Amino acid sequence: MNEIKPFEIARETLKQLTTRKLLPTPLNYQAIYNEIAGIAQVQPFPADTADPADILAQIGRLIEYAQPALGTDDEHFAEQTRGLLETLDKPGTDVTTAKLMMVNYSHKLSLAAQDQAEIKTSLLKLLHLVFENIGNLSLDEQWLKGQMDALMEASRPPITLRRLDEVERRLKEVVAKQRDAKERALEAQNETRLMQATFIERLSEMSHSTGDFHERLAENAHQIEQARTITEIAPVLKEVIGATRNMAEQSKVAGDELSSLRARANETEKELTELHKELDRVSSQARHDPLTGALNRKGMNEAVDREVSIMRRKETPLSVALLDIDNFKKLNDTLGHATGDVALAHLTAVARECMRPQDTLARYGGEEFVILLPDTPLIKGVEAMTRLQREMTTRFFLAGTEKVLITFSAGVAELGAGENGADAIKRADQAMYLAKRAGKNRVMAA
Ligand code: GH3
Ligand code: MG
Ligand code: MG
Repeated sequence: MNEIKPFEIARETLKQLTTRKLLPTPLNYQAIYNEIAGIAQVQPFPADTADPADILAQIGRLIEYAQPALGTDDEHFAEQTRGLLETLDKPGTDVTTAKLMMVNYSHKLSLAAQDQAEIKTSLLKLLHLVFENIGNLSLDEQWLKGQMDALMEASRPPITLRRLDEVERRLKEVVAKQRDAKERALEAQNETRLMQATFIERLSEMSHSTGDFHERLAENAHQIEQARTITEIAPVLKEVIGATRNMAEQSKVAGDELSSLRARANETEKELTELHKELDRVSSQARHDPLTGALNRKGMNEAVDREVSIMRRKETPLSVALLDIDNFKKLNDTLGHATGDVALAHLTAVARECMRPQDTLARYGGEEFVILLPDTPLIKGVEAMTRLQREMTTRFFLAGTEKVLITFSAGVAELGAGENGADAIKRADQAMYLAKRAGKNRVMAA
């Protein structure tokens, strides 16, 4: 066979391109080159690996599914999207045309995405402002102020669906409790008004009948003075006794009524106190520990329930850590209880910085904390706690001029398939105890 040199093939290829009036694209060039050289034609897109029509259709789906995230207010953009989707779905669409449309679309898409991000930030700012205002308006209602602080905290970025759920739940609670409180306060006000009216009425009746009584007694006294015989006195005395008994009976009725009114007033007051206690209970103070701002036991139990149900639904791992400050009693004894309090707040602050936004910190007891770590298998949980433990060994706080370092011992447990939150915390507690036994300032897996 006569060997043709590559440059000859190249020359012939260019000639053929002109003769056949083909565009000088790389694909056309290669096809003719191969033909002349006798090389088998290679399909640029072998049908069994990737079909361009299929890829375009997939891109179409991708764009379609992303639409809800972009909002639908811009009619022009929506129109452009529809046009692009139709083109991408149409069989036999030319890739170059599709590409050109996608380039235009990408530009609009980036603007729309930017818009959405800005809208989200502005809405969040607005929400904050509303919470702040409500909180400031109700300075005398401590429970509401606390609740508003908690809402502001919960709506601080980074915002996640989990946290938005929490904001919504809290807000509903505040609204419902506020409505109840207002209704009950109005009722109590009406009752008090009614009681005051009855009281004044009884008082005036009493003084009225007392006045009558005095008048009659004076008259009776006068009659007695004037009497000359005992027989004359007898009917007068009878009258005096009758009037006195009458007076006594009236006083008793009035007295009874007054004391029942007083009892009623006390009861109403007690109910109002209970109501305020109940409000306090549902307010943030009741879910958060006031010293550290971490969740308290009640808040923690709710968070555990929530995380466990998310974990079961999403089939993701959940780890719980329990940590206990080392030698805390000694710190209290040597530096004072107030410094002990500062130490608790310090640990909380450092833990917050080290944790991810989705982690939950709760004060479990005096100097014991629980951290819920969603989406975290045991080994990662141990790593996270070890990181925090190292951080604590490098970060001191000041008690006056003295630098104070605190350490902790921790146990970590990953929730078992059928295990409940409380049992996992118990296992973490046992592991924490082992960490203490092993010399403190360390983390153990349960
Ligand atoms: P260990 O290393 O074994 O954990 O010893 P410890 O001293 O930390 O543990 P212990 O249980 O003996 O002491 C805990 C101390 O924590 C006792 C208690 O007075 C103190 N404590 C509990 N709550 C508070 C608080 O709110 N503020 C302060 N300052 N101290 C607290
Ligand atoms: Mg302890
Ligand atoms: Mg301790």
